[in-house]
Amino acid sequence: MVDLPIVHVLSSMGKPDWWGSTLRNVRKMLFQTQFSAMRAIYCVEAVNSAQRKQIDELFREIQTVAEVRKLSTGRIVSYAVQTKANCCEILDEIAEVLRSINEHSLCLQPVDNVAMDIVSDLCRASGSTLLSVPTCGICGEKELFPGATITICSRGNARIVRYYCPRCTALECKPKVSDFVRALLDADRRNIRLQAEVKPLKRKSRRDLSFTIAR
Ligand SMILES: [Zn+2]
Repeated sequence: MVDLPIVHVLSSMGKPDWWGSTLRNVRKMLFQTQFSAMRAIYCVEAVNSAQRKQIDELFREIQTVAEVRKLSTGRIVSYAVQTKANCCEILDEIAEVLRSINEHSLCLQPVDNVAMDIVSDLCRASGSTLLSVPTCGICGEKELFPGATITICSRGNARIVRYYCPRCTALECKPKVSDFVRALLDADRRNIRLQAEVKPLKRKSRRDLSFTIAR
């Protein structure tokens, strides 16, 4: 699998008008790469709020070493976890810890529509709340861990977040990062266009890259 990016687009030039066909007033971007991965979904029945808190705390800790998305809350607490392909033992360790909390806890693999249907059915049967999941801005499919995310915000706190699934992200992949960002926005169903030129500004860390939008 390819390394997958997360892109943040920041503006300090007032309110961006992204709902039209052209994206204006955007000045900066931050680029991060996302790793290829192994995934699992965990469902645990929490008998009281203390146990719910214990489960949430566990996944908060896991967030420091893996990607985590909460899927449901209430009687059934569900989380999806994504980790590097060479760190998949952590998925077994999580299942083990959850079994010590509730021996009937579930570890669902592969993470697909069947697994999502199980979570949905458990929530419906127990009166738990199913949380919303990002939708790919290109193909419209639900995606737990988007391959790319573009966040565009203005000084006035107005903000838009567009997600792209790993498949669409890979299809739009370009050798030059600025072309890649533009390709994702061009393919977006919302018909978002960047009028200005995208130029790398500085690399903040191994995974982050800032951009400026030249006028
Ligand atoms: Zn897609």
